[in-house]
Amino acid sequence: MSMIDVPAHEETAPPETFDVMIVGAGLSGVGAAWHLTRQCPDRSFVVLEAQESFGGTWLTHRFPGIRSDSDLYTLGYRFKPWTGAPIATAAEIRRYMGEVIAENGLEARIRYRHAILAADWSPEAKHWTVEAVRTDTGQRLRFAVNFLWMCQGYYRHDAGYTPDWDGMAAFKGRIVHPQTWPDDLDYRGKRVLVIGSGATAATLVPAIAPDCDHVTILQRSPTFYRTGRNAIPIADELRQLQIKEEWIHEIVRQKILYEQAAFTRRCLAEPDAVKADMLADVRAHLGPEAEIDPHFTPRYRPWRQRIAFVPNGDLFAAIRSGKTTVVTDEIERFTETGLLLKSGKALAADIIVTATGFHLSGPGAIALSIGGKPLDMAETVTYRGMMFTGVPNFAWIFGYFRASWTLRVDLVGDFVCRLLNHMREVGAREVTPALREEDRDMPLLPWTDPEDFNPGYLMRGLHLLPKRGDKPDWQHSQDYWAEKDQFPAIDFTDPAFRFS
Ligand SMILES: Cc1cc2nc3c(=O)[nH]c(=O)nc-3n(C[C@H](O)[C@H](O)[C@H](O)COP(=O)(O)OP(=O)(O)OC[C@H]3O[C@@H](n4cnc5c(N)ncnc54)[C@H](O)[C@@H]3O)c2cc1C
Repeated sequence: MSMIDVPAHEETAPPETFDVMIVGAGLSGVGAAWHLTRQCPDRSFVVLEAQESFGGTWLTHRFPGIRSDSDLYTLGYRFKPWTGAPIATAAEIRRYMGEVIAENGLEARIRYRHAILAADWSPEAKHWTVEAVRTDTGQRLRFAVNFLWMCQGYYRHDAGYTPDWDGMAAFKGRIVHPQTWPDDLDYRGKRVLVIGSGATAATLVPAIAPDCDHVTILQRSPTFYRTGRNAIPIADELRQLQIKEEWIHEIVRQKILYEQAAFTRRCLAEPDAVKADMLADVRAHLGPEAEIDPHFTPRYRPWRQRIAFVPNGDLFAAIRSGKTTVVTDEIERFTETGLLLKSGKALAADIIVTATGFHLSGPGAIALSIGGKPLDMAETVTYRGMMFTGVPNFAWIFGYFRASWTLRVDLVGDFVCRLLNHMREVGAREVTPALREEDRDMPLLPWTDPEDFNPGYLMRGLHLLPKRGDKPDWQHSQDYWAEKDQFPAIDFTDPAFRFS
């Protein structure tokens, strides 16, 4: 089922055929296209993108201050050096992606304003019949493709998640979700109330606070923050020495990955010590008077939710300046003038920003079927978080939570291209993952373990996602350091792959 609004138009053009179709032109889709041109140059492919341009997340999100919270050495591709400061704005990320597209002739492969609605696999013809619609003209289009590569991300792009609070209609000011930030929103001199304190709020607040009358961050529970300079000294030093950008990119990537691995290990081994360090860091930015408890002391272990990076401590500078206040409480209801909290306190506002997250959207957001029979992705089991039992010629790029998304774009890119080349070598037109004899009694679990990682959007949508098993082959391990060695070693003669 599609969430995309399109004009009504009945006309259907004759099908176009391609070996591969990539869904989406975000970081994953553009990366997938690059891998195909390099590793499967004789394969025809097309990228369909619902929006008017490339970028995905970095096009959709237009709120003030929008920037990455991971470094672009690893959020960038392994094949294209990043030459700027590590934390980048959405515009800088799109510029980088634009260069990848231009330098590799990908523009001709991408069709914008093409939303995919449905795909049906024909077991006889061994292709997916893909139904798409042009969002500008309403024209219906049909494609026949042998392999469907889902690079559609993990959340709905048309609307963010806003809980349904009592009294919302009564509020006389404006309610805005950061994912659909209105171009005409004038927050200068206004009282702005931001609900939520995750990465989005941490990015938005320092960008708007200087212009607002006041910003209040209302959180139900605190978030972990890490701070640091938006610079990587070794990168700057190597640049001074006029080392090639390709080398700098690789050296800095390896250094960041090494440090992140050590940090993740430490979070798991000594969570209390890591927590104490992070809280001390916040105290150092806010001063001894700050109420670290309750406002900055999360209730979960570090890494159970993504840690928000605050470059140059800008969020804390906004708080210290007196322009921003943090309130830890819960919403009882909206009122005409703002919010009434469970504690009985009232917060007045002209604008309320609901930085409350996303609607999870897995590959099943497109109506999928096999031989005309609807496919429920929640009934499938994932092969390493990229393919699914019983679903032929189909892969999904779902990145990492604790490392940059794009690290997995490159790993899955290598895997899919190797798989396509293997199919050509053995003369197969279909590959379908299937549980092996010894996997049949394996317990089936939700896509992720809520004990391990449990942000709201994932918990709300977990029932829609494929299942995982209790063996490494049947899970998305979220472990880049293991997968970078395991993926290249995947053996296609394994009975987990059924070729025909
Ligand atoms: C505000 C924000 C900040 C983030 N910061 C980071 C960060 O710092 N580091 C990090 O690792 N991750 C971050 N993430 C996660 C981020 O989404 C990924 O890093 C990455 O950008 C995802 O790329 P993607 O191409 O897989 O998906 P997306 O960026 O979601 O792009 C998917 C594209 O597919 C298109 N599409 C979807 N369905 C269809 C359809 N049916 N037909 C046609 N086209 C379709 C969409 O229009 C979209 O353009 C952030 C996410 C958000 C929301």
